[in-house]
Amino acid sequence: MELNRYSVINNKNKREIVLLRGNGCKWRKCSFCDYHLDFDNNVYKNYKLNKSVLDNVIGIYKVLEVINSGSFVDLDKDTLMYIKDICVLRKIHTLHFECHWIHRETIPDLKKYFRKYGINVKIKSGIETFDYLFREKYFIKGIPNVHPLEMAKYFDEVCLLFGVKGQTEKSMEMDIHTGLKYFERICINIMTENKTPVKPDKDVIKIFKEKLYKKYQNYENIDILIDNTDFGVG
Ligand code: SF4
Repeated sequence: MELNRYSVINNKNKREIVLLRGNGCKWRKCSFCDYHLDFDNNVYKNYKLNKSVLDNVIGIYKVLEVINSGSFVDLDKDTLMYIKDICVLRKIHTLHFECHWIHRETIPDLKKYFRKYGINVKIKSGIETFDYLFREKYFIKGIPNVHPLEMAKYFDEVCLLFGVKGQTEKSMEMDIHTGLKYFERICINIMTENKTPVKPDKDVIKIFKEKLYKKYQNYENIDILIDNTDFGVG
């Protein structure tokens, strides 16, 4: 299936978004994720594809989000340089990347590199839930039992994953509150059917839609993807 790799988000948090391809997520164990299958070990082929996707960027909102079904470290150097070139050309001032916890130490250098060109980098990480046991026993996310403050040392934004068995109105709302307390933005993804054994739970999704979606949909710092998951945000 051909993936749509370029899109413009016109509601709150207006931005262009590109889905690029790297050499693959290095964690690859999250129980709910099959996005990490979008990778190729051929650097040249990845760069060629990524360049063609990035050429769509027009800078309409001066904000670009780059996702690649993994972390920015999976992208080749030429692609990273081309992202920089496009940002400079289109006068993009804010650039969002995704990153898994295991690559957190590489974030300062990335931010420093883009800052030289006047580009502010924001890093999003798929935390999915702040409930450590749920996250690690069920989602196998690979993040130790650290306080959200420790996570916020590295990440500006987090993704949360809702709509699976075991979650309740209370647990989802606690995650929303924690996310809002420690991070600039949160992005809520609702589980959809994919190739993994983790299935969306209709009852949990109904609770979310009827109780929490209504309550939080207009929050400026909450993005909600009802019919889509997060492309495997690291
Ligand atoms: S959710 Fe992200 S970190 Fe987890 S396996 Fe998928 S791409 Fe990798």
